[in-house]
Order: sequence, then structure tokens, then C-alpha cells
Amino acid sequence: MRLTVIGCSGSFPGPDSPASCYLIEEQGFRLLLDLGSGSLGPLQRHARLDGIDAVCLSHLHADHCLDLCAYWVARTYRPEGPAPQIPVYGPAGTAGRMAHAYGMDEHPGMNAAFGFTTLEPGTRDIGPLRVTVVHVNHPVETFGFRIEAAGRALAYSADTGVSEALVGLARGADLLLCEASFADGPDLPEDLHLTARQAGEHAARAGAGQLILTHLVPWNDQERSRAEAAAAYHGPLTLARSGLVLDLG
Ligand SMILES: [Zn+2]
Repeated sequence: MRLTVIGCSGSFPGPDSPASCYLIEEQGFRLLLDLGSGSLGPLQRHARLDGIDAVCLSHLHADHCLDLCAYWVARTYRPEGPAPQIPVYGPAGTAGRMAHAYGMDEHPGMNAAFGFTTLEPGTRDIGPLRVTVVHVNHPVETFGFRIEAAGRALAYSADTGVSEALVGLARGADLLLCEASFADGPDLPEDLHLTARQAGEHAARAGAGQLILTHLVPWNDQERSRAEAAAAYHGPLTLARSGLVLDLG
């Protein structure tokens, strides 16, 4: 299983990265995990526009889903004619929200291009990937993901505050891709995002094999985030960057 970080900027695109988007590849199958603002551009460095087999959206905040609008244009109006429909998994209401974001009615909306399926907690197979989702701790319905193939496991926090469900989801995973939006400090809002220290604590409690900090907000000091996470998690630790490729074997 190969992970490519397309976008890792938290909450809005940064100068060096779009918002959240991760490409997962296994046996030639390509899954996009989130398609946040700006991500369709750099995605084209790593995959053909019509080379994506499925999309999963963790939640319907713009920095995790909005480039599905741009992707709809690319698949629908390409010179060769519309690309075949692919599945799009997301929270309840995804088809309507995406259509409205583009200024369309839900019917027909984007339904010709995308087969929308509502996510619920549990496990399903998507191509060669075994995908488990749980609710995490964010103000709108949000799913964390565990993706398994060929004996390897990757967990993705999506956006979350402190979450026991995330610890369980990431239990023994080879990699935890964990958000670290907040700079540590007093009076942080609860049930919204994690600090880097909290991301490290989640990874340590889950026994994750390595930790990648992501959803990095441009105004934070990234090296400080790295140090704070490293104080809580003593395994291999990386800051996500657009273009980072990791083979999980
Ligand atoms: Zn969010």
C-alpha cells in the first residue's frame, strides 16, 4: 500500500500545500481520501484525472471536500466524453451538499459522475482495500479511517478533538496519519481539533508504528509541533508535506 500526501494544509490551502487530500494506491487501485480545497491541481502530478477509482470524504467541511466540484468538471467535460462513474463515499447529505456547492440542484446534480454512498460506522471493502470507519470528535459528522491491505494498516484521524475512537481505530496500525491543527496553549476549544502533543499521545496509546502529523495550519510553527509530538510519541515521526510518498510494503 502506498500513501501519497497530496494536500496537508490545515483548514485552508497554504503556500506550499493544498488542503486535505491523500492518495492511497494498492495493486493499481487508487483511492482518494478527502479532496480538499486546491488539491485537484497537485493531484495531477501523481495520478491521471481519470485514474481515480474511488473517493472517500471524511466530512463536509470545505477543506476536506470542496475540490469534488472541480473533479466533477474534470470527469464530466473531458474531451473524450464523460469518464465512467466512480463511487464517492461520504457522510449523509454529501450528494446534495456537493451539488449545491456547485450551484446545481441535487437531481441530477453530480450523480452521473459519482455514485454517492452514505458512510456508516463499520467495515467495507473498496477495491482491494478493507476500509473501517468510526465517528470521531468534530462539530459535524466526521469519520476516521483505517485502511488495510496485504497485512498493512494505515489510520487517518480526519479532523477530531480528543477521541477514544481514534485510539481504537489506530490500534497497532503501521501508520497513524493524524491531524495536529492547534498550537498547544491554554483555553483551546474542546471537541474540535488536536494539538501536536495530543496527536502524539493518541499515536502512543494506539501503539502505532509511525506517526505523520498533518492538517498543519500555515500560521503554526511546524518545528514546535514536531517537538511537542515527539515528547509524547517516541516512534518515527514525520511532518506531512505535499508530495510525500510512503510505501507501507
Ligand atoms: Zn473539519
